[in-house]
Amino acid sequence: MLYIVPTPIGNLQDITLRALDVLKNADVILCEDTRRTQILLSHFAISKPTMRYNENDERSISRCVEVLQSGKTAALVSDCGTPCISDPGWKLVKEALNANIKVSSLPGPSAVACALAGAGITGGAFTFLGFLPRKPGKAAKLIANAYGLNVPVVLYESPYRVIKMLELIAKTLGEQTPMIVARELSKVYEEWTRGTVRELIENFSKRPKVQGEFVLIIDRPAAEEKEETDENPYF
Ligand code: SAM
Repeated sequence: MLYIVPTPIGNLQDITLRALDVLKNADVILCEDTRRTQILLSHFAISKPTMRYNENDERSISRCVEVLQSGKTAALVSDCGTPCISDPGWKLVKEALNANIKVSSLPGPSAVACALAGAGITGGAFTFLGFLPRKPGKAAKLIANAYGLNVPVVLYESPYRVIKMLELIAKTLGEQTPMIVARELSKVYEEWTRGTVRELIENFSKRPKVQGEFVLIIDRPAAEEKEETDENPYF
């Protein structure tokens, strides 16, 4: 049996009771990084064998499938949030399903859901692009295509590339495109910044250093938003 176990994205209190239960009862915990997971396990006084899961290594995937085939119960975790969401895991889930191993996916923290819920811009459709490719041409194309669907677009970005990404969005969709930036969700310095993409570029460029974890949300222009919500309040 394979359990997919979401872990906190910044506040250890955000672990669910069920996640703790599954971690306590698993035979082995499959980790993106065993040292990172050990910090979480120690905090909750959980002592279990851990094993590194490396999605880029076929042998690592096979070893994890072998463990599952031997009848063991494994819990898959990533460094933070929900495994398989811009994180390792999906290949193992696929191989486990191919091997007729039961997979159970626990609900829990994920930065995309957390940011979108606090954004106050939609109760329904959105497009999640995760981390965009490094090549500006490819990234711009994905942004334009996703925005063309007329629903908010959610991106993950590293602090080192946030301003570059905002510049690319401004160039691709226009300087006045409305955006929301959610930084350090669930942490002490949680911060929400709203404005046009140009205003956000100015805001972040003024800071001595851009730090923390970021979710970028590209909103639709107000007129389009009104049209859609009149038709469907959960859009
Ligand atoms: N699997 C995770 C999830 O379910 O959200 C995502 C892991 S991905 C490797 C890490 C990215 O998620 C960060 O670069 C950032 O874009 C976003 N992220 C994670 N924690 C965050 C937080 N506390 N605040 C804002 N964004 C966060």
